[in-house]
Amino acid sequence: MQRLRALTLGVFLMGLLSVPTVSRGQSVEDLREEVRQEVASLAKLTQEIVDMVYSYSELGFQEKWTSDYLMGVLRQAGFEVERGAAGMPTNYVATWGIGSPVVGFMGDFDGLPETSQKPGVPWREPMIPGGPGHGEGHNTTPAVDITAAIAVKRVMERHGLQGTLKVIPGVAEELVSSRTYMVMAGLFEGMDVMLSTHVSSGLSTGWGVSGSGLVSTTFTFHGKTAHGAGSPWSGRSALDAVELMNVGWNFRREHLRLHQRSHYVVVNGGNQPNVVPGEAQVWYYFRELDYDRIKALHELGQTMAEAAAMMTSTEMEERVLGSAWPQTMSKPLAERMQANIDRVGMPEWDEADFALAKAAQRMRGVDIDSLETEVDTLRESSQGMGGGSDDIAEVSWNVPTVRLRYPSNIPGMTYHHWSAGIAEATPIAHKGANVGARVIAMTAIDVLMDPALVEEAWRYHREVQTKDYHWVSLIPEGTQPPIHLNAEKMERYRPLIEPNIYDPTQFDTYLEQLGVAYPTMETDSTRLRGNNR
Ligand SMILES: [Zn+2]
Repeated sequence: MQRLRALTLGVFLMGLLSVPTVSRGQSVEDLREEVRQEVASLAKLTQEIVDMVYSYSELGFQEKWTSDYLMGVLRQAGFEVERGAAGMPTNYVATWGIGSPVVGFMGDFDGLPETSQKPGVPWREPMIPGGPGHGEGHNTTPAVDITAAIAVKRVMERHGLQGTLKVIPGVAEELVSSRTYMVMAGLFEGMDVMLSTHVSSGLSTGWGVSGSGLVSTTFTFHGKTAHGAGSPWSGRSALDAVELMNVGWNFRREHLRLHQRSHYVVVNGGNQPNVVPGEAQVWYYFRELDYDRIKALHELGQTMAEAAAMMTSTEMEERVLGSAWPQTMSKPLAERMQANIDRVGMPEWDEADFALAKAAQRMRGVDIDSLETEVDTLRESSQGMGGGSDDIAEVSWNVPTVRLRYPSNIPGMTYHHWSAGIAEATPIAHKGANVGARVIAMTAIDVLMDPALVEEAWRYHREVQTKDYHWVSLIPEGTQPPIHLNAEKMERYRPLIEPNIYDPTQFDTYLEQLGVAYPTMETDSTRLRGNNR
């Protein structure tokens, strides 16, 4: 402890001088280069995390194997890990270091329903028909964050740099339902900067407000069962209420702003035709471009649900699951990250990588036939007509946040679809994730070494990003994280997934374990199978 205090004091005094050098004469450039090499030397770890998480294929809030495995990796690397943070069993906060700045590393790790896919084959071949998979590539994100955090820790130890590293997963991102709870639980209090990551086919960052925000919510109707033919007049159909609500919403859609996006699935529509459904449920996402409009759209949905209940003499019960604002990304941090993107450059793709990419693109019939080979330039985001949502947004309104998109996927694949899983446990994903980790680690060094950057990020956050907006969560007070979601589904699939979990003690890569040659090209028979929808 005495030594630690002396060390802290020393670094503190150095901080007062505001000179971006450390005791042994290393410049920021030297340290950035050192951490880049450190990340490169951890390529095996990156590959193992990518492959392992792919093989788990766990859905949001049920990322049990994933979470246990990643906590193990972080503990072994010397991080202190708190499990179940903010009331979510698969969440964790892994911490290492002392004092400020406090640097966060955050990215998603959940899979998607119906996207099971054997990696490395450029045609549709589910590992489990109808099963969950990584049809976006969230399996690569923890590899980026953890590889970067471990490399930064090593460099900090070597040079006695002060600061705290915190790795927190984007639990259940596909349900847009975890970060608003994490913010409210105070998980980001005291954090100086959040470095966030998302899979892509390019290497890029940006700043400004982007995407749509949303409320995710379920309406459950309670009616009365009865014999569907013998005495339907004594029943009250909850399914009727669901259908009337949906019909009402679909008519009203014509008179809403073009920027709104709303979609629903009927979670429960009853049991069998001769029993009047006593209970039915519909799940809606209501998306708009800002807090007031999201709130108004959600309220309109509530009106429809209440009206449907009145029409059918049923009772309606609402359970809000999650919410997010649109995202706001920090300009000062994005500029610094872009400089590191330019330093790192794209991965060195080889012929096999290009061959798989081209085969997958041919199979999908897209107008591209390559991997990206140039990094993107820094861009200001625009919300345009809106689109997807990501609850990293909730963090971004509370802590200066920047987001790296790293190249672990093939351009032209459809996200939330099995095709986006093809590359996600191949060298394309491994190389892209390691390159992403280099950019994140180098940007962390910038943050650690330059107090002015942190100051500028906070000034920009206060005076520009949040000048006209005060963040409040869109979920009603007292709402609990919907950790029950996907539980039944995963219980059904776990026994089918288990035999195919990656075993790094036996096999170098997951492709090797599955006996998939790299690259595997399409054949006439696979092309003629015609099931590549
Ligand atoms: Zn995502």
